[in-house]
Amino acid sequence: MQLPLLPLRGVLVFPSMVVPLEIGRKKSLHALEQAMLGDRSLLFVAQKDTRQDAPEPDDLYQVGVIAEVKQVLKMPTGGSKVVVEGRARCRVLAIHDQGDMLSAEVEEVAEQPDVTDEVEALMHAAVDLFEVYIKNSRKMPGEASVAMNIDDPSRLADTIATNLDIRTQDKQDVLEAFDVHDRLTRVSDILSRQIELLEIEKRISGRVRRQMERTQKEYYLREQLKAIQRELGEADETEGEVAELRDRLAAMEDLAEPIHDKIEREINRLAKMSPMSAEAVVVRTYLDWLLDLPWTIRSDAHMSLAEAEDILEADHFGLKRVKERILEYLAVQSLSSNLKSPILCLVGPPGVGKTSLARSIARATGRRFVRISLGGVRDEAEIRGHRRTYIGAMPGRIIQGIRQAGTKNPLFLLDEVDKMATDFRGDPSAALLEVLDPEQNHHFSDHYVELPFDLSDVMFITTANVLHLIPRPLLDRMETITIPGYTEEEKLNIAERYLWPRQVEQHGLTDSQIHIGRPVLTRVIAQYTREAGVRHLERELGTICRKAAREIVEGKKSRVRVTMQNLSRYLGHPRVRHWAAEQNPEVGVVTGLAVTEVGGDIMAIEVTTMPGKGQLTLTGQLGDVMQESARAGYSYIRSHREHLGISEGFDESTDLHIHVPEGAIPKDGPSAGIAMATAMISALSGQRVRADIAMTGEITLRGRVLPVGGIKEKILAAHRAGITEIFIPEKNQQDLEELPANIRRQLTIHAVSHLDEVLPLALESASSETPSES
Ligand code: ADP
Repeated sequence: MQLPLLPLRGVLVFPSMVVPLEIGRKKSLHALEQAMLGDRSLLFVAQKDTRQDAPEPDDLYQVGVIAEVKQVLKMPTGGSKVVVEGRARCRVLAIHDQGDMLSAEVEEVAEQPDVTDEVEALMHAAVDLFEVYIKNSRKMPGEASVAMNIDDPSRLADTIATNLDIRTQDKQDVLEAFDVHDRLTRVSDILSRQIELLEIEKRISGRVRRQMERTQKEYYLREQLKAIQRELGEADETEGEVAELRDRLAAMEDLAEPIHDKIEREINRLAKMSPMSAEAVVVRTYLDWLLDLPWTIRSDAHMSLAEAEDILEADHFGLKRVKERILEYLAVQSLSSNLKSPILCLVGPPGVGKTSLARSIARATGRRFVRISLGGVRDEAEIRGHRRTYIGAMPGRIIQGIRQAGTKNPLFLLDEVDKMATDFRGDPSAALLEVLDPEQNHHFSDHYVELPFDLSDVMFITTANVLHLIPRPLLDRMETITIPGYTEEEKLNIAERYLWPRQVEQHGLTDSQIHIGRPVLTRVIAQYTREAGVRHLERELGTICRKAAREIVEGKKSRVRVTMQNLSRYLGHPRVRHWAAEQNPEVGVVTGLAVTEVGGDIMAIEVTTMPGKGQLTLTGQLGDVMQESARAGYSYIRSHREHLGISEGFDESTDLHIHVPEGAIPKDGPSAGIAMATAMISALSGQRVRADIAMTGEITLRGRVLPVGGIKEKILAAHRAGITEIFIPEKNQQDLEELPANIRRQLTIHAVSHLDEVLPLALESASSETPSES
């Protein structure tokens, strides 16, 4: 059968379907004309590529549909609208290009109307799927549901395929399935896939819709909230506040972009919040911190050694070596333009002027001064802050100090680095190391602030009371300068030149209203204070001034003279009786020397014997090192019993008890070694120890004497207590240079390397009896 051929683009005509079409292409119009001249039959074959305007025979599929033209409507544009009804599938045997149109040789394919059980089952399945498809697809026309009532399996499949919104290729597949069984299966497959796609589409659009609904709801609620706030008169408050914050931000010059952006974001966040909400409070505090920090503000720091020297000299008496070392340190600093040199650490008992030296350095270098105390800090968060998610979170002490300074290049004094504790909450000294490390501290990150702050311009100085309690890694980063404490003489000078005039002025008095003489000052120092520094002394002088000021204001006196006689009226009875040395030689008592947190001190070491089994008891809050030191001495004595003149078998029949009074004060360290050994020997041999001597030095098992720390402090303390002869380790001899010459002259100092050198001089009757064989 030969028929005019009409290529289809994007649509397909199925048998039994009535389809409207528009025809515009010349060849197609010609084919239509030919059909109308004959029996109105046309062959419709789909193009493989819809973009082709003049398809060749090869561009067309091999299966098409013979259709009858039902209606033709000529359009003014030259084209035609037609309505066609499909009649039957056919195989295309050959296509001829006749120049003005295409024609084809076709062979009709007969449908199989039989409905087997299997085909019926397939029909049910297809109808069910199609129902679901219609329900889910919003594009489906209502009349599509007619498909449900079709009994003919071929028509059912064709009708469903026609109504699906699928690719031409898929429809062509259905068309080419001549076997009805096969055709229904394909339709069902296509339907399943389409349903799946529709569901995905639905899920996506559902999500989009929900999102939109939520945004709209929030917007709506916010607008309502604003309306309510306006009613309550709060809106202006927020707006005013936000405007003020923006002004502050604008006023901050040269702010790095990330910081600026962050602050801006937080302000925007605040603007959207209810001013009463807890969150707004948090954001507001946070913004206050960010806006208050001196991100770019620096003071005009400079370094003139001559000026620094003048200032240090003017502010402090004595301390010659300390001042020299500080100036050396400053010189190095000014050479290495960055502050990569070690951190200065001033070590010494309270009141020796560490803080005030640091203040002077700040003044001399044009830096602001801030001071934080690290005493008792046991939590990393105290250095580095808490995350903002904690209620009541705050920045750490470093950032707090920086805010207080108001500049990014202050002199930052970290007080009491030796009093930091470490526990499960983290190691504060590790955080501190990061603060002090020039490699890391230019982006110091506080947990609260979240933005890195540049600490590299800060000059850090630390202080400590004792060296050995400073965490090791910190100590490695520091250059330590020890301030050992003052002699009575130095204290007198400091009091006369600095403390007294300052107290007089601070209490609103003048020199013509109040007077205190040197001897009185000396008595205040000796009988009312007991310290290495001058802190209590300053307080006592303050007390005198306060009481005197009251007398003057009450009109009792116009001028106050503080004298030896009336001193107790101002300060009460002398509070400190100097722990004077023993008056008479005794058995088993030796004066040892110690350095405590308040400076050097003397301590009595008492040993007593009693019948027993050779046990050694130690009391008086002695630390582990001190106890070990006592045992070392004891072992030395046992192994040198005969040579020491001690009776045989003492270590089986005699118990020893070592006690160091003033038990509330913990004592530790090896430096009482020779003193404890001497006391034991005295107790065991019954020889008395001279009362006017004191000693310090570590002892080894062989009786050798090893060097110890704090010689100057110890000797000053011994001198204060009226001791005249002192034993120190030979290796400590160079420390004597630090001693003021006038004190040195009043003392006899023995530098010893073995216990044997001590015993003949310390024990009263020993020298003649002890065989010397060392
Ligand atoms: P620290 O920090 O070591 O505990 P401070 O610096 O607080 O000691 O000193 C206590 C007081 O003693 C301060 O008023 C200080 O000015 C004063 N002072 C300490 N040493 C001297 C000194 N050598 N010359 C003048 N005043 C001193």
